[in-house]
Amino acid sequence: MDVIRARVLGFCGGVRRAVTLIEGAAERHAPIYTLHAIVHNEHVMRRLVEKGVRLVDSLAQIPDGATVALTAHGAPTATIAALRLRELEILDATCPIVREAQDVVVANANAHRFSIVYGDREHLEVQGLLSRARGLATAAESLEGLEFPTEGRLAILAQTTKSPQALAVFAESIRGFLDPRTDVIVQDTTCAEPTARYTAARELAATVDAMVVVGSETSANTRNLFAACCESGHPAHFISSPDAIRPDELAGYARIGLTAGASTPDALIDDIEARLRRL
Ligand code: SF4
Repeated sequence: MDVIRARVLGFCGGVRRAVTLIEGAAERHAPIYTLHAIVHNEHVMRRLVEKGVRLVDSLAQIPDGATVALTAHGAPTATIAALRLRELEILDATCPIVREAQDVVVANANAHRFSIVYGDREHLEVQGLLSRARGLATAAESLEGLEFPTEGRLAILAQTTKSPQALAVFAESIRGFLDPRTDVIVQDTTCAEPTARYTAARELAATVDAMVVVGSETSANTRNLFAACCESGHPAHFISSPDAIRPDELAGYARIGLTAGASTPDALIDDIEARLRRL
């Protein structure tokens, strides 16, 4: 069987940086505490836990004097304030691209410009963005139930994992509700990494018999990548671990395309590729 890798796959720069920073810190002075999964992948989390990373549900579970890691998604200002109040050491692994989006929201608030964030308001990254706007922001993935000023100074931006195209469509739908005198700007805060994975996967899917998408069911970006492969019209298989490979389903293909979500570690991709080649 031929196994062809997508030209972009696996860990994005922000996740790789966060894992490297936190793993390195754990090797030097474990334990390192975190309030959120460093990455939505059970293989990576298991390795980090073995190195001394402790995932906890609340600040109360963190002992005095401990080090607490912020994940690549960043953290709301209230969380950071609570960590400082406890005089806990903060290991900030916020992705620089998320940090840029945070700076955009802060600059908007400083300029009395209301930010409308196209994104999942329950997502940690979006909560971090909203927390920096001092009340001058809202977030949603559709216009349904979304409340925002229809005049004055507005900015429309996005959660970093959205595509620029989707942001443009969202912004256009907002414009329809605005007073013509509204001063509205669109700020592209999206990250190129997820889009690069979708594009590479779609291109590859058109040239193979089937696609294999490697990653965790808990990873939204891996699920989106799988959906993009399914849309190509070719068979797609979601595989989260080497044991999940079903030879009866895959052995009949001559050419398999391989891709992986931004939270999927290199070792898992390598392992699954090797096993596919042996089918
Ligand atoms: S997808 Fe982009 S913004 Fe999100 S963590 Fe990765 S590099 Fe950073």
